[in-house]
Amino acid sequence: MFTFIRIIFLGVLVLLAGCAGAPRDNSGGLIAEQNAQFVERPTEGFTPPSVFQTSPPKTIFQITNAVLPTWHTNFSAATKTNSSAPAKPPHRPVPPTFTSLNNWAVDNQLNPPQRLTGSPVVTYSISSRNGICVLEIGSREATWRGMSVHLGFTPEMIDGQIFVHGLDIIKTLSPLLLDPSPNFGPHKTIVIDPGHGGINGGTVSIDGRAEKGFTLDWARRLGSLLSANGWTVYLTRTNDTDISLSNRVAVAEAHHADLFVSLHFNSSAPDHRQSGLETYCLTPTGMPSTLTRGYTDSWTDAYPNNAYDLENLQLAVRLHAALLSASGAEDRGIRRARFMGVLLGQRRPAVLIEGGYLSNAREADKIESGPYRQQLAEAVANALR
Ligand SMILES: [Zn+2]
Repeated sequence: MFTFIRIIFLGVLVLLAGCAGAPRDNSGGLIAEQNAQFVERPTEGFTPPSVFQTSPPKTIFQITNAVLPTWHTNFSAATKTNSSAPAKPPHRPVPPTFTSLNNWAVDNQLNPPQRLTGSPVVTYSISSRNGICVLEIGSREATWRGMSVHLGFTPEMIDGQIFVHGLDIIKTLSPLLLDPSPNFGPHKTIVIDPGHGGINGGTVSIDGRAEKGFTLDWARRLGSLLSANGWTVYLTRTNDTDISLSNRVAVAEAHHADLFVSLHFNSSAPDHRQSGLETYCLTPTGMPSTLTRGYTDSWTDAYPNNAYDLENLQLAVRLHAALLSASGAEDRGIRRARFMGVLLGQRRPAVLIEGGYLSNAREADKIESGPYRQQLAEAVANALR
């Protein structure tokens, strides 16, 4: 079984590289961008803090082979060394099937869900001191504090009551409504991963500039801010080089990172209308992903990072909310996916941010401006205070 999962996992690591719009060759790998005209320039006024590593040291690459098998032989016993306090368990265990939201609320001393609308869509709210969650019958898109959060399964009406799948209760509602606000730092170690690099340019903006340069600049700005806030910061790359996905994970492993944040920009070309922010975390085992981009989405797969399902969501919520607020961008939601190779093997809370659509003229204009990338960096840094 482990061997089987390991083969799948290693295959996925080799095949996957993140971004939406990046075209793929026949082997499923990313092909180099065709119009990369982004010239690497030092960020204005940017002085790399001393904790920045100029590039991943060679030893990181040497440990990769030793690290990978360990993930797979031991991941079921993955130890959490940096998680927040575990949630108080509900009075009754939530079964992995559709569960009465009313009963769950009573079990956890919450007010019963309130029906908000009955037509054309039926919606319910459920709230705690942490905030309000709105659920829609027949839709996997819920909102938390007004922000889009994607569920694994659609809530259903059964005998006039709203029922929610047990995994959505355990993996989404419970961490949002019941768990205390997590403390992610500072004085901890973060690995920031600027997407793509070298021959892997990522997607391309509407006027032909490669994603890889914008992600690196965002990462440098963020690294500088976090470093000033007391974080120990490492970047998976600090120049225009291509780093394999497994080595990006290995950087976090080598530095015993407490958090991992991968930075990307999106594309929906040739559709130029789509815009907005998406924040991704790994799909919990047993749940379908929000999207698959054509990759196999095996619900039963369990990855090392699944040990951090709750922290991943809390981190995603924190960062997504701050980015939406700072940018005014359209909210495309907190999503779950299994095809993002940099997340699967992480033994720490990890998210991947798609900071806007380079295929949208209006959004590309903003992303191509330094002050806007500074805003994005400040949003993430402030969210981690
Ligand atoms: Zn990307």
